[in-house]
Amino acid sequence: MAWRLRLPADQIDTWRVAFSGGDTAMSVSPAGYATVQGGVLRRSRESGAVHLVVIAVDEATARACLDDEIANADRDEGDDPAAWAATIAAHRRAGRVYGYPDCCVAAFCDGWLEAMSTRQRVVSDNALLILRAHLRSQAWHPLLRAFGAGLGEETASPLRHLPCRFDCSPSLALAQAIVADLRLISPAQAGRYERAAVHPIRLDADGSLTPWHGALEPSMAPSSTGPTMDVASLFPVTLPFAD
Ligand SMILES: [Zn+2]
Repeated sequence: MAWRLRLPADQIDTWRVAFSGGDTAMSVSPAGYATVQGGVLRRSRESGAVHLVVIAVDEATARACLDDEIANADRDEGDDPAAWAATIAAHRRAGRVYGYPDCCVAAFCDGWLEAMSTRQRVVSDNALLILRAHLRSQAWHPLLRAFGAGLGEETASPLRHLPCRFDCSPSLALAQAIVADLRLISPAQAGRYERAAVHPIRLDADGSLTPWHGALEPSMAPSSTGPTMDVASLFPVTLPFAD
C-alpha cells in the first residue's frame, strides 16, 4: 500500500521526519515539476514547482512507485504505441499499490489511451476522463470531486485518483474510509471535508476547469456520441456538483 502526493521543496524535510523509519518509507523525486494546461506534468525549475513524493509501507514499494511516477512524467509518448503501453502498465501497477478501485483504473487507462491516440482532437486526457466520468454519472458526490485540488480547493475530495464516475461506489467507500481515518488524527480537518462548500464546475473548451457561479442550464448537459466521443463537440460543459 502506498500514497502519492506533491510537495514544494520547503515542506519535504518536515514530511521526511514524519514518515521515514518505523512502519513507513518516503521517496522524493530529485527534480521539481509543474502542472501545465490539461494537467500534464513537466519538469520545472520555477519557484512554484513541486516534487513527486510516495509514502509506502516499505522502502522498496515507495521507490518502485516513485520510479513509475517519474518515468510517466518524463516520458514523451508521442505516437509510439510501445510508449503508450509502458505508461498504461505503470498506471495499472500504481493503481493497484495505491488501492484505487479496479473500475477507476480501467476507466483511466481506457480514456488516457483514447486521448493519446486521438491527440489531434483531444486537448487534455484529464478533460476527456472528467467528461466521461460525468457522462456515466447519475449523481455527483462532493467527496468524489477529485479534480478540486487543482483549483486550490483542499477539501474537495480526499481521493488521489479520478473516479470512473462521480457516484462510483468503491471510490465513495475509499473516500469515506480516508475521512474516517483522518477523524482519528484531525477531527477538524475531517469535519472540513464533510462540510466543504461545493460548487458546480465548468469544463471549458481548452480543457481547463473553473468554479462556476452561474445557474445550471439543462441545455449545457452533454450527450455521448458513441464509444469514441467527439470531445470537441461536447465542450464546454458544467458539472453539477453542489452543496
Ligand atoms: Zn470506479
